[in-house]
Amino acid sequence: MRLPSFVFDIDGVLLRGPNVLQPALEAMRKIYDDGGGWRYPTAFLTNGGGMLESEKAKQLSEKLHVEVKSEQVILSHSPMRGLAETLSDRPVLLSGRGKVMEVAAAYGFNKAVHTSQVAAAFPSAVPFSSTQRYSRCLVSEEGYGTQKMPIEAILVMNDPCDWYRDAQLIVDCLLSGGVLDGSVAEGNVQEKVPSLYFSNPDLLWANDFGRSRYGQGAFGLIVETLYKSHQAQPVKPVYFGKPNPQPYRLAEVTLARQAKAMGINANAFIFAVGDNPAADILGANRAGDHWVSCLVQTGVFKAGSEPSVKPSILVGDVSAAIDAALHRMRQEHWHSLR
Ligand SMILES: [Mg+2]
Repeated sequence: MRLPSFVFDIDGVLLRGPNVLQPALEAMRKIYDDGGGWRYPTAFLTNGGGMLESEKAKQLSEKLHVEVKSEQVILSHSPMRGLAETLSDRPVLLSGRGKVMEVAAAYGFNKAVHTSQVAAAFPSAVPFSSTQRYSRCLVSEEGYGTQKMPIEAILVMNDPCDWYRDAQLIVDCLLSGGVLDGSVAEGNVQEKVPSLYFSNPDLLWANDFGRSRYGQGAFGLIVETLYKSHQAQPVKPVYFGKPNPQPYRLAEVTLARQAKAMGINANAFIFAVGDNPAADILGANRAGDHWVSCLVQTGVFKAGSEPSVKPSILVGDVSAAIDAALHRMRQEHWHSLR
């Protein structure tokens, strides 16, 4: 009998804010054997980030009482690792909270400068900003983001905390051809516009507050709208993260590797469990015929409403999603015997 693989979204499926959802613990007991580890290939696919995959794996292991390896974790910025192949020794501008400088260094970006460093070097560039600033600035120290060494790409690695500061500095960077020190005069149209990448396109996401919160997609809209107010040609950012294909391809790689190690038929069906129709369900529906989308009602999507994107399976919570997936696999098996 072919075995299913599982891909779990985290916020709104397994956790809500810092709290573990009870059905998540039940779900883990169904697919994880304390003595033998994972019964099925499993990955965790989130549009969150701001830390290394290894740190997220450790957090999940502690909260869910299972052993999650860093290879099983795909964060919103994980696909950016691939960009480092061409940008490793080019200056890039980073935006985002948490340990994004550490993450960028681990991915291989050797000339990264963070928006808070730029704010520290040029306080008058963001006069309304009062967020904490880095003491070092690689713009002044190393010349990243000057006319000699302009920024070649802007990476928004997760939701920034100071949208004013980062929107201002990112639009500056785009309009001035990657120069951050204010030395390119306004109206001096630059031929080379830095590439712009966002790690996820989520307009909304769910935490432990009673209503959904704005995410990085909302910040992206602000940057795009501001840029359009200056330039006739819109900026064309690349958005990674669900529902876009890159994280699903990374998930398939880790699931296939686990299946091989388990000696089972790889990726028979991949059940993707999520709470956000526009991200998790749309993404899984688009990822290929072997992906089966499962929508739960413990996060963004609430019972009693009509999902904006139709899932293959609609259940109450992640534990019920496991039951539904295993039931479907048994049916497949019987069909195959007849
Ligand atoms: Mg979610």
